[in-house]
Amino acid sequence: MSQVRTITRFAPSPTGRLHVGNIRTALVCWLAARADGGSFMLRIDDTDAARSTEDFVDAIRTDLGWLGLVPDGEVRQSDRFALYEAAFETLHAGGRVYPCYESEEELSVKRRIARGRGLPPIYDRAALTLTAEQRHSLDATGATPHWRFKLDGAPIAWDDLVRGPQKFDGTLMSDPVIRRADGSWLYLLPSVIDDIDMRISHVVRGEDHVSNTAVQLQMFAALGARAPAFAHMALLVGTDGKLSKREGAIGVGAIRDEGIEPQALLALLARIGTSDPVVPVAAAVDLIEGFAFGHMGRAPARFDSAELAQLNARTLHLLPFDAVRERLPAGIDETVWLAIRPNLTTLGEAAAMFATIEGPIATPAFDADDRIFAGHAAEAAQTLDWSAAPWAALTAALKGLTGRKGKTLFLPLRLALTGQDHGPEMAALLPLIGRDRAIARLRAAAG
Ligand code: GLU
Repeated sequence: MSQVRTITRFAPSPTGRLHVGNIRTALVCWLAARADGGSFMLRIDDTDAARSTEDFVDAIRTDLGWLGLVPDGEVRQSDRFALYEAAFETLHAGGRVYPCYESEEELSVKRRIARGRGLPPIYDRAALTLTAEQRHSLDATGATPHWRFKLDGAPIAWDDLVRGPQKFDGTLMSDPVIRRADGSWLYLLPSVIDDIDMRISHVVRGEDHVSNTAVQLQMFAALGARAPAFAHMALLVGTDGKLSKREGAIGVGAIRDEGIEPQALLALLARIGTSDPVVPVAAAVDLIEGFAFGHMGRAPARFDSAELAQLNARTLHLLPFDAVRERLPAGIDETVWLAIRPNLTTLGEAAAMFATIEGPIATPAFDADDRIFAGHAAEAAQTLDWSAAPWAALTAALKGLTGRKGKTLFLPLRLALTGQDHGPEMAALLPLIGRDRAIARLRAAAG
């Protein structure tokens, strides 16, 4: 018998841009599938026609593409209503779904009464006691029912891949509404039908879905299917507790516009909330090897934008030229990239750094001493062997000639040669600036 590979699905609702929370879910789905040579599927949860938009569907695909989390297949719930209808009929025939006629107001009164009596505010199943006649006369008044799934009272338990053993008492839960009076679907049942149909082996999602899982496990059983494994990830929080509104709502587009590399975002999201250290990677595939559900903790995962910014810099420092060449300004070749890379915090800074090589640069306003020093430097630069290590040779010559050392030696040179008081290693920059430009800049600084 061939071994069943992991099949995961990422199931966003196209009602907004992907934010850090869903990206983490998508990433973990992708990692779990890739770690096992399995499949990562995209399921567009667009049963809510009023709130779903085509633009958001496109944005989800674009965002996943930018992140490099490319799905092996895609389904849309709005294409699958016939499948849901058929499963619904099966459940109806088996007595596992039933029509209810209560209005929202009636239900809220019932809940208030239950609470007043110190009882859990669960649905009293009054609709189950309606006779066929009562139902017909309700239907005759034009009332259309909504539908609930009938839970059985058996204890519900599963071994969550992140949270460990979970237990729920079905008798303390309301039969969930699965379909509205207008025939539209709520999330719970279609998700189960799809998970069965798509042979999903692992459902990975946030811990806010834990009680949904309790209910959905009974739906899998009612449909005669084996339930997948479940992994409920702890929620993401910000540095001071809750994820701030900005951090929580920040979409992929905004993250990209801030100059964050997808690898940096993925490297952070793959490891926060786990027992593993956050390390920069050059490509998302490098995260696969260390992935294990068992490393994920139950404590909230802390998302820190400052940590992301730092990780972004560390990521750039290890990206090869090929990974960035298409996004670099014209003229930056591999040698320039390797020279400027260690100083970048975002790729957008590359243009300004390249300008310090290409020029023109601002001539520094030196005092008399520094002007004389720049004049010596210009002369020394003319006699250097530029084919070897010109920076070491230039500084050694000037040290001997002027007695300057440390900052008084290096800073005026950097200023004169690049127009900046900081930047990439001069040893790497000077050969790129080249003899002629270097001499001209030093002469200009000498005044
Ligand atoms: N569309 C649901 C959500 O975004 C999917 C939940 C699930 O993964 O089952 O919350």
